[in-house]
Amino acid sequence: MAQKIHHYSNGEITVTWKPGNCIHSGICFKGLAGVFDPRRRPWIDMSQATTQQIIDQVKKCPSAALSIESNTPVD
Ligand code: SF4
Repeated sequence: MAQKIHHYSNGEITVTWKPGNCIHSGICFKGLAGVFDPRRRPWIDMSQATTQQIIDQVKKCPSAALSIESNTPVD
């Protein structure tokens, strides 16, 4: 069965979340609570931090449930 993938974009980057990979470590919402809030739907709000803050937090996801799928080239 194909894995479900959710996409969240702020126009510059797209964060993907694979719920099947998430081990619910809480690292994302402890680190960047405005963007990642499991009580909210959708639970990721890309307007609550800068693109760089979101990239830095996504890199800390221990299970690779979060990733950056696309971004605009930066000089
Ligand atoms: S940091 Fe990754 S594994 Fe942990 S809760 Fe967030 S998405 Fe899930």
